[in-house]
Amino acid sequence: MKKLFLFAATLLGALSSTAYAQRTLIHCGNLLDVNKGEVQRQMTIVLDKNKISAVERGYSRAAANDNVIDLKNKYVLPGLIDMHVHLENETRRGGSYDRFVQNPPDVAFQAARYAKTTLLAGFTTVRDLGGSGVNIALRNAINKGLVEGPRIFTSGKSIASTGGHADPTNGYRKDLMGDPGPNEGVVNSADDARKAVRQRYKDGADVIKITATGGVLSNAKDGQGPQFTEEEVKVIVETAHDYGFHVAAHAHGAEGMKRAIRGGVQTIEHGTLMDDEAIELFKKHGTYYVPTIIAGRTTADSARIMGYYPPLVTPKALAIGPKLQATFARAVKAGVKIAFGTDAGVYPHGYNAKEFEYMLEGGMTAMEAIRAATVTNAMLLDMSESLGSIEAGKLADIIAVEGNPLQDIKTLQNVTFVMKDGTVYKQQ
Ligand SMILES: [Zn+2]
Repeated sequence: MKKLFLFAATLLGALSSTAYAQRTLIHCGNLLDVNKGEVQRQMTIVLDKNKISAVERGYSRAAANDNVIDLKNKYVLPGLIDMHVHLENETRRGGSYDRFVQNPPDVAFQAARYAKTTLLAGFTTVRDLGGSGVNIALRNAINKGLVEGPRIFTSGKSIASTGGHADPTNGYRKDLMGDPGPNEGVVNSADDARKAVRQRYKDGADVIKITATGGVLSNAKDGQGPQFTEEEVKVIVETAHDYGFHVAAHAHGAEGMKRAIRGGVQTIEHGTLMDDEAIELFKKHGTYYVPTIIAGRTTADSARIMGYYPPLVTPKALAIGPKLQATFARAVKAGVKIAFGTDAGVYPHGYNAKEFEYMLEGGMTAMEAIRAATVTNAMLLDMSESLGSIEAGKLADIIAVEGNPLQDIKTLQNVTFVMKDGTVYKQQ
């Protein structure tokens, strides 16, 4: 009897939801139109399930079955996008030894926590540029609704050359080091490069990440020299395009950066020692610059704490970290195209929006910086049709803050409403 009643109730529920389609109306006191670059007063966003069906002037009246979300005294804007995060890990003193003691499930549980922190900070989409491969499982778990986090586009494991920035065995004892190959993301020829890209396709990655030069946090001496031949970069990019992948290149030094740009990568990450010739190449090839200023600043700060990093890392962090913001300022002035990315994980997750402050200090306007983190990043992810702005037909990735970000960019560091894909994750 009880069973029968339940069945009837379920049937009734299903019928009523089809008979009176329930909409959600979001009443927005102030809506940031990132296309027009202006704040619109008293607007209503109409949602049909996870999609925006209309954006209307005034506070539209709700029908009997409609949900209403009141954001009348907030500033509403599209969910933010960070093009450079590492959700598997987070910096801490001595943390470089974690990889010797953590099993993949340990990494997975902490990654789930970092993903949620990121989402609640207003970042509804991220590009994860390198981990062990747990980042692919994390994306899948979030897509299935098992774990709360941003929508993820992930590179899986980064591709490097032997001893390079993303060689996963740098700093190991010799008998533990082995000789990692394309499967582990280590390549030393065009053939290796093809195989590494194809392996990532097989693994389920969304994007290819290469470490075109030395880097700061790897346990290796060099932080800026080139680590791929131009031929290897070209082969990686060509093979990546066969599978519909874009390529992101980590680069500090100018020579490796130039090889990467000429090789056809979509974005240069960090770009610290970019010279005038590199700036010209950025413009000629239409390459985007992902500055990660916050990572430069925080690694330099951490390096001043005794024992925070291994001895090989500290001098690199002190030399390279502080240069990023000035490089960014030069790039903006020269007209290099800028995307928004922070290298979260290198600093604690959830502080991603601090980057906006540093971008403004470097000469961008608030609207330019917000556009970088919304429309520009959506375009770079080939997601312009569904992400990056609040418009009919797009997915309902919507956040809100207390103040006007065009007047006070710091307000983005205190996001009080987060909706991703039509589901509310935070409402204060
Ligand atoms: Zn990174």
